[in-house]
Amino acid sequence: MTDFDYDLFVIGAGSGGVRASRIAASHGARVAVAEEFRVGGTCVIRGCVPKKLLVYASHFAHSLHDAPTYGWTLQGQSFDWAALRDFVASDVDRLERAYTSTLDSNKVEHFHERATVAGPNSVRLASGREITARHILIAVGAWPVMPEFEGVEHCITSNEVFHLPELPRRVVIQGAGYIALEFAGVFNALGSAVTVVNRSDKILRGYDHDLTDRLLPILQARGIEFGFNRPIRKVEEAADGSLLVHAGEGEPIPADVVLVATGRRPKTAGLGLENAGIELGANGEIPVNEYNATTCPSIHAVGDVTDRVQLTPVAIREGHAFADTVFGNAPRTVAYDHIPSAVFTQPPIAAVGLTEHEARAQYPEVKVFKSDFRPMQNMFSATAERGYYKLVVDGASDRVLGIHMLGPDAPEILQAAAIAVKAGLTKAQFDETVALHPSMAEELVLMR
Ligand code: NDP
Repeated sequence: MTDFDYDLFVIGAGSGGVRASRIAASHGARVAVAEEFRVGGTCVIRGCVPKKLLVYASHFAHSLHDAPTYGWTLQGQSFDWAALRDFVASDVDRLERAYTSTLDSNKVEHFHERATVAGPNSVRLASGREITARHILIAVGAWPVMPEFEGVEHCITSNEVFHLPELPRRVVIQGAGYIALEFAGVFNALGSAVTVVNRSDKILRGYDHDLTDRLLPILQARGIEFGFNRPIRKVEEAADGSLLVHAGEGEPIPADVVLVATGRRPKTAGLGLENAGIELGANGEIPVNEYNATTCPSIHAVGDVTDRVQLTPVAIREGHAFADTVFGNAPRTVAYDHIPSAVFTQPPIAAVGLTEHEARAQYPEVKVFKSDFRPMQNMFSATAERGYYKLVVDGASDRVLGIHMLGPDAPEILQAAAIAVKAGLTKAQFDETVALHPSMAEELVLMR
């Protein structure tokens, strides 16, 4: 069919790259993929999946705490970080094998080495081999941003956090976004003393303020310390290997581990994009159009490297749409509205659609419905944490524009509710739905 070695060469075997490879191959393309680290990418290897397992592990702390109230007698329970860490690592191995076998069963050739762009239709492998392809897809993802301060080399990122030799006694976390607060919850529940320091006084920027304003005191009540307006200036290492964190104006904070979670930047450094005339955006991202096409007609990009929405399901959709468009004769774009998202804090928050603030900026009449409730499962808990759900509704059409939830299992509930928001259902249609009792989710149809 062509003079090229492959119809498609994918750089990066993460969520977007693997999906694009598989779908392109199913459309008949001859596909190869290069991956310099491990097949599966950030989500599978050192992101969503191992993180969620740690979150599950830490839930046991709360369950064990509440168990005696429900009649259980507990004796001699203890926690073994190494056992958890190794179990998580073995599950990551299993998933990597599953992803690799997906490539194999779709006859996608894979190279376990770094590849860079050598020209519009050629890539160069680290071993020196040059390979040609009719199309190239860049799906190399993003990488943690390391701020510049003295002693930053003593800090770790989410890349290393899964491999700690032991559970740290004291953890300082820089940032108050997704990664910072999810790991703050994990370490706090597992027994570490956790201090979150952030440059501003905001947590989880982008989420509805009603949610974050309620989440913060809950996290504090669980024992997580927060230091706001405290950017790290310096981290010192003592002779015994312990660390001292100088952040903002306050007293230095002693730590055994300092986790930096200050955002992730497209991993385009040294990728050779200039060889195809592609100019990077301000954050190092590859600019693409709605069909994931770069300014070079033979090169596309999907996922975090394009810095649109840094979420796995979005990268998967972009990879799929790319493959259908270029190899399936079925041009497709991805809709970026109504993307549900969640932060696996303890308790978690989840949201879809417009925040109240965003809705008021776009619609002349906005109605807001709120439910501030005590989840039944917390009734016997010493913490007395409350849940909070909020519906943002267009007053003119009655359409639900956004749902924002804080409380146990919020992400599980929100995924189903997001279908209703995506479908454009009205508040009246929510109200017509009979409640499922007793549940937390019933609050969604009981707000008046
Ligand atoms: P976030 O963008 O969520 O948060 C970054 C945090 O770091 C903010 O609190 C920000 O402060 C602070 N910050 C940013 N730049 C600096 C700097 N130069 N110096 C000091 N502080 C800084 O990034 P994360 O690293 O937590 O996560 C990266 C991405 O990964 C997320 O955006 C998300 O897309 C994805 N992710 C998704 C998850 C999920 O879906 N559950 C889980 C984990 C990651 P401020 O806001 O005050 O400016």
